[in-house]
Amino acid sequence: MNLLIVESPTKTKTISKYLKGDYVVRASVGHIRDLPKSNKKAIDIAGGFIPHYEISKGKEKVVSEIKDLAKKAKEVILATDPDREGEAIAWHIKEACGLKKPKRIVFYEITENAVKEAIKHPRNIDENLRRAQEARRVLDRLVGYDLSGLIWKKVRYGLSAGRVQSPALRIIMEREREIRAFIPENYWVISGEFETENKDKIILTCEEEPKDEKETNHILELARANPWKIIEIKQSETKRSPRAPFTTSTLQQTASSRLGYSPSRTMSIAQKLYEQGLITYMRTDSLNVSKEALPQIYGTIEKQYGKEYLFPRIYTSKSKSAQEAHEAVRPTNFNLKSAGHTDEQKKLYKLIWERTISSQMADAKLLKTKVSANIISEQQAIIPNFSIIGSITVFDGWLAADKAAHGEETQIPKLSEGEKLKLLNIESQGKQTEPPSRYTEAGLVKELEKREIGRPSTYATIIKTIQDRGYVIKEGKTLLPTDTGDVVSTFLENNFSQYISDSFTAEMENKLDEIAEGKRKYEKMLKDFYTPFSKEVKVKSKTTEKITNLGEADEKYKCPVCGGPMIIKLARTGKFLSCAKFPECTGARKIDGSIMEGPKETGELCPQCGGKLIEREGRFGKFISCANYPKCKFIKQSTEQEAKAKTGVNCPECKKGEIVERRGRFGLFYSCSNYPECKFAIKAKPTGKICKLCGSLMMEGTKTIPERCSNKACPNHNPHKTK
Ligand SMILES: [Zn+2]
Ligand SMILES: [Zn+2]
Ligand SMILES: [Zn+2]
Ligand SMILES: [Zn+2]
Repeated sequence: MNLLIVESPTKTKTISKYLKGDYVVRASVGHIRDLPKSNKKAIDIAGGFIPHYEISKGKEKVVSEIKDLAKKAKEVILATDPDREGEAIAWHIKEACGLKKPKRIVFYEITENAVKEAIKHPRNIDENLRRAQEARRVLDRLVGYDLSGLIWKKVRYGLSAGRVQSPALRIIMEREREIRAFIPENYWVISGEFETENKDKIILTCEEEPKDEKETNHILELARANPWKIIEIKQSETKRSPRAPFTTSTLQQTASSRLGYSPSRTMSIAQKLYEQGLITYMRTDSLNVSKEALPQIYGTIEKQYGKEYLFPRIYTSKSKSAQEAHEAVRPTNFNLKSAGHTDEQKKLYKLIWERTISSQMADAKLLKTKVSANIISEQQAIIPNFSIIGSITVFDGWLAADKAAHGEETQIPKLSEGEKLKLLNIESQGKQTEPPSRYTEAGLVKELEKREIGRPSTYATIIKTIQDRGYVIKEGKTLLPTDTGDVVSTFLENNFSQYISDSFTAEMENKLDEIAEGKRKYEKMLKDFYTPFSKEVKVKSKTTEKITNLGEADEKYKCPVCGGPMIIKLARTGKFLSCAKFPECTGARKIDGSIMEGPKETGELCPQCGGKLIEREGRFGKFISCANYPKCKFIKQSTEQEAKAKTGVNCPECKKGEIVERRGRFGLFYSCSNYPECKFAIKAKPTGKICKLCGSLMMEGTKTIPERCSNKACPNHNPHKTK
């Protein structure tokens, strides 16, 4: 018997199908060992940054089972994922189970061919790869522990900081400050509706957008007072090339913008597709497509779209770091146009299929037509040209496979130069320049990659961490920093600017890559970093003041208790105004100056620990939490808040509960009050009406569609498209 060990049960199932007879396949179910929670025991710094691992809780059984099987096995093969994390898991299994000479195999797709081929070419565990993973783990633990400790002392208990999460938070805060400093400017957009000689209608827009209302009116006057003609028609052919196949980062970005998935959700769906053998390994920054896959892609394109659509291309990645996985994310079998068990798996698979296929297809050809017109007057061209640009697809090329990438087509009626136009109507619209926009999750992944912060294996975790810590919240699609995020980032930027800079973080990633390549030594790298860093933390611990005061409050807000001046402070729920004489006087106001009711005991006891329950006011209204926070994290909505959340609409699924408003990681949603027994939920507030087409609940829509069906499959979900 041969024993083959992987990290996930799904992978076990897929591989068992391929290996008949002599193989027993077992899963470690993720990591089996980790650093202990207590920091003293975790890392022996003086001894050379030696980590002391402990078997993770609940993994004792897995370890002893593997030990038993290994004794009976002729050969033990470690087939964990093909990157540093996978190499580390393999090494931990070897160490914890006392395996003598296990073989290590890697494959980038879980297909019969790839697995059987890998078994023919085993190697030893790559000490450099697993050391690089260990260095990252130790580094992150040391930085996180030291910085968090300092922030507990200087800002507030329970907060955290981290080597890569803090630079990401800083990037968000830098944008936020740009937005705060932004001064909007007025400008006017002028558009006219014209009739051509053929009685077609056409809308032309002024090529300049005046910043001044007087100038705008001047243009309007001349436009109305004079006859018009077409002065130029310019045609040009342009092309659009397909994009490279997916890397982790572009997969996360596209899944976010097209499907609305967060990076961590995308990664967990992709992982399931990978483990079923449907796609190649999803953590990669390579644009490579294997020699075996290319002919399959070419064949699929010729068969499904025709010869003229095929255009073989080679993509080279600009990432200089040779990460271990060396293929782009692609389907393993191109004949499968649809695959996956669930709706979300199918959607992500389709995205990957389309992206890979279209990357080997011909350019799309577009015909652009620019029509410019002006007034006919004695003084000639005293107002800017009015124009329109039309765009028609002459050949769709790769867009045939990736229909969602198709832009809007603008058709322009047949016109000729010199043709007279009749002005029907002209209007100006006052607008204001917009501040730079906040990052979306997809935008932040792109920014992190551009600045070389993080790696395919870490983007999703970074973005999840800053949200889990309460430094950033997601509103709609954008990431909004909280007051706490602002204060923590400002503290770190003022005191550890070098350590959370782009260049430093990117340099550390490069050093980790060099450890993986065997070009840099583990102990020296950690020592070179940690010696000055820990000294800096100690110095800052003595020299920086505790942040108790975030500035003076507006003078018009006096303490509601003693009438004295107030200052801005940070609470768990955000900024508020506190009496400057605190703790002698406990008067407080909300940040907007309104009166705040202080924390109040409710008289009830905590169902989790028996402590007193306390009602407080937070960012999203009143809530009840345990007096033993942060030891006990029990939290619930206040009765008043609960009443506000009720919609009065009964749950159509269990017919017992009521639909109530809830706040989740993706913002507000509406679900059954019988949760978790009933999992019914919809995205927007139900209006109380029932859909005439399918009988589902109707819900609030947008400005243009005031009401829509909550059932996504119903045509009434997008009523504007049914007309
Ligand atoms: Zn006071
Ligand atoms: Zn409690
Ligand atoms: Zn229900
Ligand atoms: Zn419906």
